[in-house]
Amino acid sequence: MPYPGAPSPEILTLLTREFGADLFTGAEALSGRSRDESGVCLAPAAVLLARDEAQVARLLLLANAHGFAVVPRGAGTGLAGGCLAETGGVVLDLSSMNRIIAIDTNSVTAMVEPGVLTGDLRRAARAQGLFYPPDPASLGTSTIGGNAATNAGGPACVKYGTTRDYVLGLSAVLPTGEIIQTGTATRKGVVGYDLTRLLVGSEGTLGVITRLTLKLLPHPAHQACLAAVFPDLDAAMRAVISVMTRGHLPSAMEFLDARCLRLVGDLLPEHVRAGLSDAPGAPGEGSEALVLIECDGTLEETARACADIEAICREIGALGILPAPDEASRERVWKVRRSVSTRIHDSCAVYIPEDIAVPIGKIADMVAALPAVEARHGITLYAFGHAGDGNIHLNLTAPEEGDRPRVEAAAEECVRLALAFGGTMSGEHGVGLTKRHLLPLEIAPVSLRVQRGIKALLDPNNILNPGKLFPKETA
Ligand SMILES: Cc1cc2nc3c(=O)[nH]c(=O)nc-3n(C[C@H](O)[C@H](O)[C@H](O)COP(=O)(O)OP(=O)(O)OC[C@H]3O[C@@H](n4cnc5c(N)ncnc54)[C@H](O)[C@@H]3O)c2cc1C
Repeated sequence: MPYPGAPSPEILTLLTREFGADLFTGAEALSGRSRDESGVCLAPAAVLLARDEAQVARLLLLANAHGFAVVPRGAGTGLAGGCLAETGGVVLDLSSMNRIIAIDTNSVTAMVEPGVLTGDLRRAARAQGLFYPPDPASLGTSTIGGNAATNAGGPACVKYGTTRDYVLGLSAVLPTGEIIQTGTATRKGVVGYDLTRLLVGSEGTLGVITRLTLKLLPHPAHQACLAAVFPDLDAAMRAVISVMTRGHLPSAMEFLDARCLRLVGDLLPEHVRAGLSDAPGAPGEGSEALVLIECDGTLEETARACADIEAICREIGALGILPAPDEASRERVWKVRRSVSTRIHDSCAVYIPEDIAVPIGKIADMVAALPAVEARHGITLYAFGHAGDGNIHLNLTAPEEGDRPRVEAAAEECVRLALAFGGTMSGEHGVGLTKRHLLPLEIAPVSLRVQRGIKALLDPNNILNPGKLFPKETA
Protein backbone atom coordinates (compact mmCIF):
# COMPACT_ATOMS: atom_id res chain seq x y z
CA MET A 1 0.00 0.00 0.00
CA PRO A 2 1.19 3.60 -0.54
CA TYR A 3 2.45 5.44 2.51
CA PRO A 4 1.35 9.06 2.03
CA GLY A 5 3.05 11.90 3.88
CA ALA A 6 2.88 15.69 4.03
CA PRO A 7 1.02 17.80 1.45
CA SER A 8 3.33 19.67 -0.93
CA PRO A 9 3.67 23.49 -0.51
CA GLU A 10 1.25 23.94 -3.45
CA ILE A 11 -1.34 21.68 -1.82
CA LEU A 12 -0.86 23.49 1.49
CA THR A 13 -1.71 26.73 -0.29
CA LEU A 14 -4.78 25.05 -1.75
CA LEU A 15 -5.80 23.81 1.73
CA THR A 16 -5.38 27.31 3.16
CA ARG A 17 -7.63 28.68 0.42
CA GLU A 18 -10.17 25.93 1.06
CA PHE A 19 -10.34 26.07 4.88
CA GLY A 20 -9.26 29.64 5.61
CA ALA A 21 -8.78 30.43 9.30
CA ASP A 22 -9.55 26.83 10.34
CA LEU A 23 -6.27 25.60 8.82
CA PHE A 24 -3.13 26.22 10.89
CA THR A 25 0.49 25.94 9.83
CA GLY A 26 2.11 28.08 12.54
CA ALA A 27 4.72 26.61 14.88
CA GLU A 28 2.51 26.83 17.97
CA ALA A 29 -0.43 24.99 16.41
CA LEU A 30 1.86 22.29 15.00
CA SER A 31 3.82 21.74 18.19
CA GLY A 32 0.56 21.55 20.18
CA ARG A 33 -0.48 18.58 18.00
CA SER A 34 2.91 16.89 17.80
CA ARG A 35 2.54 14.95 21.05
CA ASP A 36 0.12 12.72 22.87
CA GLU A 37 0.70 11.00 26.22
CA SER A 38 2.88 8.26 24.70
CA GLY A 39 5.99 10.42 24.98
CA VAL A 40 6.51 10.29 21.19
CA CYS A 41 6.87 13.62 19.35
CA LEU A 42 6.09 13.94 15.60
CA ALA A 43 5.13 17.25 14.04
CA PRO A 44 2.39 17.49 11.37
CA ALA A 45 2.59 19.78 8.32
CA ALA A 46 -0.76 21.42 9.12
CA VAL A 47 -3.74 21.24 11.46
CA LEU A 48 -7.38 21.50 10.44
CA LEU A 49 -9.53 22.49 13.40
CA ALA A 50 -12.73 20.99 12.00
CA ARG A 51 -16.02 22.80 12.59
CA ASP A 52 -18.38 20.31 10.94
CA GLU A 53 -18.71 17.03 9.09
CA ALA A 54 -18.65 18.73 5.68
CA GLN A 55 -15.12 20.05 6.34
CA VAL A 56 -13.99 16.57 7.39
CA ALA A 57 -15.38 15.07 4.18
CA ARG A 58 -13.78 17.80 2.05
CA LEU A 59 -10.35 17.27 3.64
CA LEU A 60 -10.50 13.52 3.01
CA LEU A 61 -11.56 14.04 -0.61
CA LEU A 62 -8.60 16.37 -1.10
CA ALA A 63 -6.26 13.92 0.64
CA ASN A 64 -7.29 11.21 -1.84
CA ALA A 65 -6.96 13.53 -4.79
CA HIS A 66 -3.50 14.79 -3.78
CA GLY A 67 -2.10 11.85 -1.81
CA PHE A 68 -1.39 13.28 1.63
CA ALA A 69 -1.97 11.75 5.06
CA VAL A 70 -4.78 12.80 7.45
CA VAL A 71 -4.59 11.91 11.15
CA PRO A 72 -7.69 12.27 13.36
CA ARG A 73 -7.13 13.72 16.80
CA GLY A 74 -9.40 14.17 19.82
CA ALA A 75 -7.71 15.50 22.94
CA GLY A 76 -4.33 13.82 22.44
CA THR A 77 -4.47 11.85 25.71
CA GLY A 78 -3.76 8.58 23.89
CA LEU A 79 -0.89 6.45 25.15
CA ALA A 80 0.04 4.75 21.86
CA GLY A 81 0.89 7.63 19.52
CA GLY A 82 -2.30 7.01 17.51
CA CYS A 83 -3.08 10.68 16.85
CA LEU A 84 0.44 11.64 15.72
CA ALA A 85 1.26 12.44 12.10
CA GLU A 86 4.22 10.13 11.67
CA THR A 87 4.60 11.00 8.00
CA GLY A 88 4.02 14.72 8.51
CA GLY A 89 0.46 14.86 7.18
CA VAL A 90 -2.50 16.99 8.26
CA VAL A 91 -3.81 16.53 11.79
CA LEU A 92 -7.61 16.65 11.78
CA ASP A 93 -8.41 18.09 15.20
CA LEU A 94 -12.00 17.27 16.21
CA SER A 95 -11.95 18.90 19.63
CA SER A 96 -14.07 21.87 18.51
CA MET A 97 -16.89 19.63 17.29
CA ASN A 98 -18.01 19.37 20.89
CA ARG A 99 -21.76 19.80 21.09
CA ILE A 100 -23.98 17.55 23.18
CA ILE A 101 -26.73 17.59 20.57
CA ALA A 102 -29.41 15.90 22.68
CA ILE A 103 -29.99 13.85 25.76
CA ASP A 104 -33.20 11.97 25.13
CA THR A 105 -34.67 11.06 28.50
CA ASN A 106 -37.51 9.08 26.87
CA SER A 107 -35.25 6.83 24.79
CA VAL A 108 -32.42 7.07 27.38
CA THR A 109 -29.82 7.94 24.75
CA ALA A 110 -27.48 10.80 23.97
CA MET A 111 -26.42 12.21 20.63
CA VAL A 112 -23.05 13.94 20.68
CA GLU A 113 -20.29 15.29 18.49
CA PRO A 114 -16.90 13.57 18.84
CA GLY A 115 -15.09 16.40 20.63
CA VAL A 116 -17.32 16.29 23.73
CA LEU A 117 -15.23 15.52 26.82
CA THR A 118 -16.25 12.25 28.46
CA GLY A 119 -16.64 13.91 31.86
CA ASP A 120 -18.91 16.59 30.39
CA LEU A 121 -21.22 13.96 28.92
CA ARG A 122 -21.31 12.06 32.22
CA ARG A 123 -22.23 15.26 34.06
CA ALA A 124 -24.90 16.25 31.51
CA ALA A 125 -26.44 12.76 31.69
CA ARG A 126 -26.34 12.78 35.47
CA ALA A 127 -28.20 16.09 35.57
CA GLN A 128 -31.08 14.21 33.88
CA GLY A 129 -30.86 11.24 36.27
CA LEU A 130 -28.99 9.20 33.66
CA PHE A 131 -25.63 7.47 33.56
CA TYR A 132 -22.92 7.13 30.90
CA PRO A 133 -20.80 4.38 32.51
CA PRO A 134 -17.46 4.24 30.60
CA ASP A 135 -14.91 5.81 32.94
CA PRO A 136 -11.37 5.96 31.57
CA ALA A 137 -9.12 7.61 34.15
CA SER A 138 -8.62 10.37 31.55
CA LEU A 139 -12.34 11.20 31.45
CA GLY A 140 -11.75 14.80 32.49
CA THR A 141 -9.63 15.45 29.40
CA SER A 142 -10.31 12.80 26.72
CA THR A 143 -13.03 13.06 24.08
CA ILE A 144 -15.90 10.70 23.31
CA GLY A 145 -14.62 10.41 19.71
CA GLY A 146 -11.18 9.37 20.97
CA ASN A 147 -12.81 6.99 23.48
CA ALA A 148 -14.83 5.39 20.69
CA ALA A 149 -11.82 5.19 18.36
CA THR A 150 -9.82 3.40 21.07
CA ASN A 151 -12.76 1.59 22.70
CA ALA A 152 -11.73 3.11 26.02
CA GLY A 153 -12.58 1.38 29.27
CA GLY A 154 -12.00 1.94 32.95
CA PRO A 155 -12.72 0.49 36.38
CA ALA A 156 -16.48 0.27 35.67
CA CYS A 157 -15.81 -2.19 32.84
CA VAL A 158 -16.22 -5.14 35.20
CA LYS A 159 -19.94 -4.39 35.51
CA TYR A 160 -20.74 -2.04 32.66
CA GLY A 161 -18.38 -2.91 29.80
CA THR A 162 -16.38 -0.55 27.59
CA THR A 163 -17.22 2.36 25.29
CA ARG A 164 -18.18 -0.09 22.52
CA ASP A 165 -21.11 -1.33 24.63
CA TYR A 166 -22.65 2.17 24.62
CA VAL A 167 -22.27 3.17 20.98
CA LEU A 168 -25.57 2.42 19.27
CA GLY A 169 -24.77 4.20 16.04
CA LEU A 170 -22.34 6.55 14.36
CA SER A 171 -22.03 9.07 11.63
CA ALA A 172 -18.58 8.76 10.11
CA VAL A 173 -16.65 10.04 7.14
CA LEU A 174 -14.93 7.19 5.33
CA PRO A 175 -11.36 7.71 4.11
CA THR A 176 -12.78 8.23 0.61
CA GLY A 177 -14.75 11.26 1.84
CA GLU A 178 -18.12 9.47 1.73
CA ILE A 179 -20.38 9.85 4.77
CA ILE A 180 -22.01 6.79 6.31
CA GLN A 181 -24.50 6.23 9.10
CA THR A 182 -24.05 2.98 11.01
CA GLY A 183 -26.15 1.24 13.64
CA THR A 184 -29.51 2.34 14.95
CA ALA A 185 -31.00 4.54 17.65
CA THR A 186 -32.52 1.41 19.18
CA ARG A 187 -31.20 -0.92 21.87
CA LYS A 188 -31.47 -3.83 19.43
CA GLY A 189 -30.69 -4.08 15.72
CA VAL A 190 -29.35 -6.99 13.69
CA VAL A 191 -29.57 -5.78 10.10
CA GLY A 192 -26.40 -6.08 8.07
CA TYR A 193 -22.78 -6.29 9.18
CA ASP A 194 -22.06 -4.40 12.39
CA LEU A 195 -20.04 -1.48 11.02
CA THR A 196 -20.47 0.41 14.29
CA ARG A 197 -18.45 -2.21 16.13
CA LEU A 198 -15.91 -2.25 13.31
CA LEU A 199 -15.32 1.50 13.53
CA VAL A 200 -15.24 1.54 17.33
CA GLY A 201 -11.71 0.57 18.32
CA SER A 202 -10.31 1.09 14.81
CA GLU A 203 -7.99 3.84 16.13
CA GLY A 204 -8.85 6.37 13.45
CA THR A 205 -7.73 4.12 10.59
CA LEU A 206 -11.09 3.26 8.98
CA GLY A 207 -13.16 6.43 9.32
CA VAL A 208 -13.52 9.73 11.13
CA ILE A 209 -16.30 9.63 13.70
CA THR A 210 -18.35 12.82 13.43
CA ARG A 211 -21.44 12.00 15.51
CA LEU A 212 -22.34 9.31 18.02
CA THR A 213 -25.64 7.95 19.36
CA LEU A 214 -24.92 6.56 22.80
CA LYS A 215 -26.87 4.31 25.12
CA LEU A 216 -27.39 5.67 28.63
CA LEU A 217 -28.60 3.93 31.80
CA PRO A 218 -30.50 5.10 34.87
CA HIS A 219 -27.99 6.63 37.29
CA PRO A 220 -27.39 4.40 40.32
CA ALA A 221 -28.74 5.99 43.48
CA HIS A 222 -25.69 5.29 45.61
CA GLN A 223 -22.08 4.10 45.44
CA ALA A 224 -19.98 2.68 48.26
CA CYS A 225 -16.64 0.93 48.34
CA LEU A 226 -14.05 -0.69 50.53
CA ALA A 227 -10.32 -1.30 50.33
CA ALA A 228 -8.74 -4.44 51.76
CA VAL A 229 -5.09 -5.34 52.22
CA PHE A 230 -4.18 -9.01 51.78
CA PRO A 231 -0.96 -10.87 52.68
CA ASP A 232 -0.24 -11.41 48.98
CA LEU A 233 -1.72 -11.00 45.51
CA ASP A 234 -2.81 -14.61 45.39
CA ALA A 235 -5.10 -14.07 48.41
CA ALA A 236 -6.29 -10.76 46.94
CA MET A 237 -7.30 -12.49 43.71
CA ARG A 238 -9.03 -15.29 45.61
CA ALA A 239 -11.11 -12.60 47.28
CA VAL A 240 -11.97 -11.03 43.92
CA ILE A 241 -13.07 -14.38 42.50
CA SER A 242 -15.03 -15.28 45.66
CA VAL A 243 -16.89 -11.98 45.48
CA MET A 244 -17.91 -12.71 41.89
CA THR A 245 -18.86 -16.34 42.46
CA ARG A 246 -20.98 -15.52 45.50
CA GLY A 247 -23.55 -13.46 43.65
CA HIS A 248 -22.00 -9.98 43.63
CA LEU A 249 -21.31 -7.83 40.61
CA PRO A 250 -19.28 -4.84 41.88
CA SER A 251 -18.99 -1.74 39.74
CA ALA A 252 -15.19 -1.72 40.19
CA MET A 253 -12.56 -4.17 41.43
CA GLU A 254 -9.08 -2.70 41.33
CA PHE A 255 -5.78 -3.99 42.68
CA LEU A 256 -2.30 -2.73 43.55
CA ASP A 257 0.68 -5.03 43.90
CA ALA A 258 3.11 -4.81 46.82
CA ARG A 259 5.40 -2.30 45.14
CA CYS A 260 2.56 0.07 44.21
CA LEU A 261 1.13 -0.31 47.69
CA ARG A 262 4.38 0.90 49.19
CA LEU A 263 4.47 3.87 46.83
CA VAL A 264 1.07 5.13 48.03
CA GLY A 265 0.98 3.51 51.48
CA ASP A 266 1.23 6.91 53.19
CA LEU A 267 -2.28 7.71 51.88
CA LEU A 268 -3.78 4.82 53.86
CA PRO A 269 -5.07 5.36 57.40
CA GLU A 270 -2.93 4.13 60.28
CA HIS A 271 -5.00 1.01 61.10
CA VAL A 272 -4.69 -0.27 57.51
CA ARG A 273 -1.01 0.69 57.23
CA ALA A 274 -0.41 -1.29 60.42
CA GLY A 275 -1.15 -4.43 58.40
CA LEU A 276 1.82 -3.85 56.12
CA SER A 277 4.96 -5.79 56.90
CA ASP A 278 7.36 -2.85 56.67
CA ALA A 279 7.35 0.91 56.98
CA PRO A 280 4.62 2.48 54.81
CA GLY A 281 5.79 4.70 52.01
CA ALA A 282 9.26 3.14 52.02
CA PRO A 283 10.43 0.68 49.40
CA GLY A 284 10.32 -2.78 50.90
CA GLU A 285 10.11 -6.45 50.19
CA GLY A 286 6.64 -7.05 51.63
CA SER A 287 4.24 -9.08 49.51
CA GLU A 288 0.93 -7.47 50.48
CA ALA A 289 -1.60 -6.43 47.86
CA LEU A 290 -4.54 -4.06 48.02
CA VAL A 291 -7.95 -4.58 46.47
CA LEU A 292 -10.53 -1.82 46.07
CA ILE A 293 -14.09 -2.99 45.51
CA GLU A 294 -16.99 -0.64 44.71
CA CYS A 295 -20.71 -1.40 44.57
CA ASP A 296 -23.61 0.67 43.30
CA GLY A 297 -27.39 0.50 43.67
CA THR A 298 -29.78 1.72 46.34
CA LEU A 299 -28.40 2.67 49.76
CA GLU A 300 -29.66 -0.62 51.20
CA GLU A 301 -28.27 -2.72 48.34
CA THR A 302 -24.81 -1.17 48.51
CA ALA A 303 -24.69 -1.44 52.33
CA ARG A 304 -25.65 -5.11 52.15
CA ALA A 305 -23.21 -5.88 49.32
CA CYS A 306 -20.31 -4.09 51.07
CA ALA A 307 -21.02 -5.95 54.32
CA ASP A 308 -21.00 -9.31 52.47
CA ILE A 309 -17.83 -8.39 50.60
CA GLU A 310 -16.10 -7.32 53.81
CA ALA A 311 -16.99 -10.70 55.34
CA ILE A 312 -15.55 -12.50 52.29
CA CYS A 313 -12.32 -10.47 52.52
CA ARG A 314 -11.96 -11.28 56.22
CA GLU A 315 -12.63 -14.96 55.57
CA ILE A 316 -9.82 -14.99 52.99
CA GLY A 317 -7.43 -13.37 55.45
CA ALA A 318 -7.52 -9.60 54.83
CA LEU A 319 -4.96 -7.90 57.07
CA GLY A 320 -6.83 -4.60 57.14
CA ILE A 321 -10.11 -3.23 55.79
CA LEU A 322 -11.02 0.34 55.01
CA PRO A 323 -14.77 0.81 54.45
CA ALA A 324 -15.85 3.85 52.42
CA PRO A 325 -19.63 4.08 52.60
CA ASP A 326 -20.00 7.77 51.69
CA GLU A 327 -18.70 10.24 49.10
CA ALA A 328 -15.90 11.70 51.23
CA SER A 329 -14.44 8.36 52.32
CA ARG A 330 -14.86 6.95 48.78
CA GLU A 331 -12.84 9.85 47.43
CA ARG A 332 -10.04 9.07 49.95
CA VAL A 333 -9.91 5.42 48.89
CA TRP A 334 -9.93 6.24 45.17
CA LYS A 335 -7.15 8.75 45.75
CA VAL A 336 -4.93 5.86 46.82
CA ARG A 337 -5.65 4.05 43.54
CA ARG A 338 -5.40 7.15 41.33
CA SER A 339 -2.11 8.32 42.85
CA VAL A 340 -0.24 5.24 41.71
CA SER A 341 0.48 6.27 38.08
CA THR A 342 1.63 9.76 39.00
CA ARG A 343 3.92 8.52 41.72
CA ILE A 344 5.46 5.88 39.48
CA HIS A 345 5.93 8.47 36.75
CA ASP A 346 7.56 10.88 39.19
CA SER A 347 9.92 8.25 40.55
CA CYS A 348 11.91 7.37 37.42
CA ALA A 349 13.39 8.66 34.16
CA VAL A 350 12.23 5.86 31.86
CA TYR A 351 8.62 4.74 32.08
CA ILE A 352 6.80 2.46 29.67
CA PRO A 353 3.14 1.81 30.45
CA GLU A 354 1.90 -1.55 29.14
CA ASP A 355 -1.75 -2.49 29.56
CA ILE A 356 -1.94 -6.18 28.93
CA ALA A 357 -5.06 -8.14 29.89
CA VAL A 358 -5.20 -11.78 30.96
CA PRO A 359 -8.08 -14.03 32.05
CA ILE A 360 -8.98 -13.04 35.63
CA GLY A 361 -7.87 -16.43 36.95
CA LYS A 362 -4.37 -15.78 35.58
CA ILE A 363 -3.70 -12.34 37.12
CA ALA A 364 -1.81 -13.77 40.11
CA ASP A 365 0.23 -16.10 37.83
CA MET A 366 1.05 -13.21 35.50
CA VAL A 367 2.18 -10.98 38.37
CA ALA A 368 4.14 -13.86 39.92
CA ALA A 369 6.13 -14.16 36.68
CA LEU A 370 7.22 -10.52 36.76
CA PRO A 371 10.16 -10.67 39.23
CA ALA A 372 11.99 -12.95 36.79
CA VAL A 373 11.44 -10.38 34.00
CA GLU A 374 12.76 -7.63 36.30
CA ALA A 375 15.83 -9.63 37.18
CA ARG A 376 16.56 -10.63 33.57
CA HIS A 377 16.42 -7.04 32.31
CA GLY A 378 17.53 -5.13 35.43
CA ILE A 379 14.42 -2.94 35.56
CA THR A 380 11.69 -2.16 38.12
CA LEU A 381 8.10 -3.18 37.47
CA TYR A 382 4.89 -1.96 39.08
CA ALA A 383 1.59 -3.82 38.53
CA PHE A 384 -1.87 -2.47 39.26
CA GLY A 385 -5.19 -2.23 37.50
CA HIS A 386 -8.55 -3.78 36.96
CA ALA A 387 -8.76 -7.06 38.87
CA GLY A 388 -12.37 -7.51 37.79
CA ASP A 389 -11.54 -7.75 34.10
CA GLY A 390 -7.91 -8.92 34.10
CA ASN A 391 -6.52 -5.68 32.65
CA ILE A 392 -3.14 -5.14 34.32
CA HIS A 393 -1.28 -1.86 33.98
CA LEU A 394 2.35 -2.87 33.97
CA ASN A 395 4.61 0.10 34.46
CA LEU A 396 8.16 -0.74 33.49
CA THR A 397 10.72 1.72 34.79
CA ALA A 398 14.42 2.47 35.02
CA PRO A 399 16.40 5.36 36.49
CA GLU A 400 18.39 6.46 33.40
CA GLU A 401 17.40 7.29 29.81
CA GLY A 402 20.21 4.98 28.65
CA ASP A 403 18.28 2.07 30.20
CA ARG A 404 15.43 2.44 27.66
CA PRO A 405 16.43 -0.52 25.42
CA ARG A 406 16.33 -2.84 28.43
CA VAL A 407 12.93 -1.49 29.45
CA GLU A 408 11.62 -2.00 25.90
CA ALA A 409 12.93 -5.56 25.84
CA ALA A 410 11.23 -6.25 29.17
CA ALA A 411 7.97 -4.74 27.82
CA GLU A 412 8.03 -7.13 24.88
CA GLU A 413 8.66 -10.04 27.22
CA CYS A 414 5.62 -8.99 29.31
CA VAL A 415 3.47 -8.97 26.17
CA ARG A 416 4.70 -12.45 25.26
CA LEU A 417 3.91 -13.65 28.80
CA ALA A 418 0.39 -12.17 28.67
CA LEU A 419 -0.24 -13.92 25.35
CA ALA A 420 1.06 -17.19 26.79
CA PHE A 421 -1.47 -16.84 29.62
CA GLY A 422 -4.27 -16.50 27.02
CA GLY A 423 -4.38 -12.70 27.22
CA THR A 424 -3.94 -9.72 24.94
CA MET A 425 -1.24 -7.06 24.54
CA SER A 426 -3.66 -4.17 25.13
CA GLY A 427 -6.87 -4.07 27.13
CA GLU A 428 -7.44 -0.33 26.74
CA HIS A 429 -4.72 1.82 25.24
CA GLY A 430 -4.60 0.37 21.74
CA VAL A 431 -1.80 -0.34 19.31
CA GLY A 432 -1.20 3.01 17.58
CA LEU A 433 2.39 3.25 16.52
CA THR A 434 4.12 2.31 19.78
CA LYS A 435 2.91 -1.31 19.79
CA ARG A 436 2.42 -2.01 16.08
CA HIS A 437 5.66 -4.03 15.84
CA LEU A 438 4.16 -6.47 18.35
CA LEU A 439 0.90 -7.01 16.47
CA PRO A 440 2.01 -10.20 14.67
CA LEU A 441 2.67 -11.77 18.09
CA GLU A 442 -1.07 -11.65 18.76
CA ILE A 443 -2.84 -11.58 15.39
CA ALA A 444 -2.38 -14.68 13.25
CA PRO A 445 -1.42 -14.25 9.56
CA VAL A 446 -4.89 -15.08 8.23
CA SER A 447 -6.57 -12.59 10.57
CA LEU A 448 -3.92 -9.99 9.75
CA ARG A 449 -4.61 -10.49 6.04
CA VAL A 450 -8.36 -9.99 6.61
CA GLN A 451 -7.68 -6.85 8.66
CA ARG A 452 -5.38 -5.42 6.01
CA GLY A 453 -8.05 -6.25 3.43
CA ILE A 454 -10.65 -4.25 5.39
CA LYS A 455 -8.26 -1.31 5.57
CA ALA A 456 -7.52 -1.52 1.82
CA LEU A 457 -11.24 -1.72 0.99
CA LEU A 458 -12.17 1.35 3.02
CA ASP A 459 -8.99 3.33 2.42
CA PRO A 460 -7.59 2.33 -0.99
CA ASN A 461 -5.03 5.17 -0.99
CA ASN A 462 -4.05 4.62 2.67
CA ILE A 463 -4.51 8.31 3.44
CA LEU A 464 -6.24 7.93 6.85
CA ASN A 465 -3.81 7.50 9.73
CA PRO A 466 -1.30 5.54 7.63
CA GLY A 467 1.09 3.24 9.43
CA LYS A 468 -0.99 2.88 12.59
CA LEU A 469 -1.94 -0.55 13.91
CA PHE A 470 -0.04 -2.56 11.29
CA PRO A 471 3.70 -3.25 11.48
CA LYS A 472 5.40 -0.50 9.45
CA GLU A 473 7.70 -2.50 7.25
CA THR A 474 4.84 -4.31 5.53
CA ALA A 475 2.10 -1.68 5.81
C1 LIG B 1 -3.75 9.97 32.72
C2 LIG B 1 -4.33 9.08 31.66
C3 LIG B 1 -5.20 8.08 32.03
C4 LIG B 1 -5.76 7.25 31.06
N1 LIG B 1 -6.63 6.29 31.47
C5 LIG B 1 -7.22 5.50 30.56
C6 LIG B 1 -8.16 4.51 30.97
O1 LIG B 1 -8.46 4.35 32.14
N2 LIG B 1 -8.73 3.76 30.01
C7 LIG B 1 -8.43 3.93 28.69
O2 LIG B 1 -9.01 3.22 27.86
N3 LIG B 1 -7.54 4.85 28.27
C8 LIG B 1 -6.93 5.64 29.16
N4 LIG B 1 -6.03 6.58 28.77
C9 LIG B 1 -5.69 6.71 27.34
C10 LIG B 1 -6.55 7.75 26.56
O3 LIG B 1 -7.08 8.72 27.43
C11 LIG B 1 -7.66 7.06 25.79
O4 LIG B 1 -7.09 6.26 24.78
C12 LIG B 1 -8.68 8.03 25.16
O5 LIG B 1 -9.75 7.28 24.65
C13 LIG B 1 -8.08 8.91 24.06
O6 LIG B 1 -9.00 9.95 23.77
P1 LIG B 1 -8.50 11.30 23.08
O7 LIG B 1 -9.69 12.13 22.83
O8 LIG B 1 -7.43 11.90 23.85
O9 LIG B 1 -7.96 10.71 21.70
P2 LIG B 1 -6.56 10.96 20.98
O10 LIG B 1 -5.43 10.62 21.88
O11 LIG B 1 -6.57 12.31 20.37
O12 LIG B 1 -6.64 9.87 19.82
C14 LIG B 1 -6.62 8.50 20.13
C15 LIG B 1 -6.89 7.69 18.85
O13 LIG B 1 -8.23 7.92 18.42
C16 LIG B 1 -8.25 8.44 17.09
N5 LIG B 1 -9.35 9.41 17.06
C17 LIG B 1 -9.58 10.44 17.92
N6 LIG B 1 -10.74 11.04 17.63
C18 LIG B 1 -11.27 10.39 16.56
C19 LIG B 1 -12.45 10.54 15.79
N7 LIG B 1 -13.38 11.45 16.06
N8 LIG B 1 -12.65 9.68 14.75
C20 LIG B 1 -11.76 8.71 14.46
N9 LIG B 1 -10.63 8.52 15.16
C21 LIG B 1 -10.39 9.35 16.20
C22 LIG B 1 -6.86 9.04 16.86
O14 LIG B 1 -6.51 9.01 15.50
C23 LIG B 1 -6.02 8.09 17.68
O15 LIG B 1 -5.72 6.92 16.93
C24 LIG B 1 -5.43 7.41 29.70
C25 LIG B 1 -4.55 8.43 29.33
C26 LIG B 1 -3.99 9.24 30.30
C27 LIG B 1 -3.06 10.32 29.88
